[in-house]
Amino acid sequence: MERPPGIDRILRFEEALAVVLRQAQASPSPEAVETVALSNARGRVLARAVVADRDQPPFDRATRDGYAVRAADMGGAALGALRVVGSLRAGETWKSPPLRAGEAIEIMTGAGLPAGADAVVMVEDTAPENGGLRWQRMLRVGENVVPRGAETRAGSVVLARGTLLEGAEIGVAASCGQVELEVFARPRVAIAATGDELVELDEPMQSAQIRNSNSYALAALVESSGGVAERLAIARDCVEDLRARIIEGFQADLLLFSGGVSMGKYDLVEQALAEFGAEFFFTGALIQPGKPIVFGRLPRPDGLHPKGWTYFFGLPGNPVSAQVCFHLFVAPMLRARCGRVEVAPLFVEARLGESVQGGSRVTRFLPARVSGAWDGVKVRLVGWQGSGDVVANARGDGYAVLPAGEEAFAAGETVRVLLR
Ligand code: AMP
Ligand code: MG
Repeated sequence: MERPPGIDRILRFEEALAVVLRQAQASPSPEAVETVALSNARGRVLARAVVADRDQPPFDRATRDGYAVRAADMGGAALGALRVVGSLRAGETWKSPPLRAGEAIEIMTGAGLPAGADAVVMVEDTAPENGGLRWQRMLRVGENVVPRGAETRAGSVVLARGTLLEGAEIGVAASCGQVELEVFARPRVAIAATGDELVELDEPMQSAQIRNSNSYALAALVESSGGVAERLAIARDCVEDLRARIIEGFQADLLLFSGGVSMGKYDLVEQALAEFGAEFFFTGALIQPGKPIVFGRLPRPDGLHPKGWTYFFGLPGNPVSAQVCFHLFVAPMLRARCGRVEVAPLFVEARLGESVQGGSRVTRFLPARVSGAWDGVKVRLVGWQGSGDVVANARGDGYAVLPAGEEAFAAGETVRVLLR
């Protein structure tokens, strides 16, 4: 069958990514919000900012074990030892009279500075002498002390709306006494594999058939990016099946097709989407693997809540292509549908562990393994048989990015790596 006219739009990689990021940023933040216990909040995205309930630190905090002193007493002139008049542990408040000239109070890390003291001398810089204390260096006012409120003021935002909650953020929420958090509902992502050759895992298989592994891989990637995956039934390469999947997909926040977007006679996904009034942002990108990638949105039918648009991706059927396109394009859009503010894919720079031939007219994303070393990150390509090679793909932990146009890449040269 003919491809629908007017939808051939093949972009360079940078352009395609910019289009996705623009749509991701422009798409409305999720409407549905829910309350979760702090202990179940990891991986969720804040829908309401967390505000500090008190100054942090709540008192002038000692950052070292040592002695609370008056810095003026530690000058070179006062050679006599300081008199130690007490001891203060973290969690205790100094209730005795303020520290006076010539006095020191033993203090532990995390305790509040007693009144009258203005610095802490580290225990390592002192020595006991005649029941008192001798020191080895002068001290500035405020040394080894974080003043009250220096980290955060009561009432200020410590975690913004749109923040992904991982360990560090959970720690901040806990420090503010938040036992529950308001987070965005997880976006639902419908996944429709297409192909006459596909069989489900529990079905008998002929030798020419292929297991539908993409639906599982994509569902796992969706879940680890914060979405709820819904695997739809396999669509055969016919418009009727594709129509049925699109109608089911309208209910989701994001619709993913795999397969059926190349130039073959049975690649009908774009045609079926066009029938529903799809707007196509691009129908291909100059990348390898993944060139047939399609991105667009469907106007939701009347009567559907919420009205508006359902974004979709048509991913190439080849499993490595589908996964590369997921990391490059789907994940940013999905992060936006999760309510996140930071959505762009993460690239790091690494030195190539080997020389690689160039001369390609497309940007290549080759399965690779990154190894960290003290003197720099290294990346080695995983030998592969092309975009069907799921096993090689799984041996990598990212993709080395080899830009279009360059003739060759030398060992030791710095390249970007897409981490997954
Ligand atoms: P297509 O993009 O539809 O031309 O698919 C390209 C190739 O990818 C097919 O010939 C299959 O070998 C493979 N493929 C397509 N869909 C899947 C799938 N759901 N799971 C695993 N492999 C697939
Ligand atoms: Mg196909």
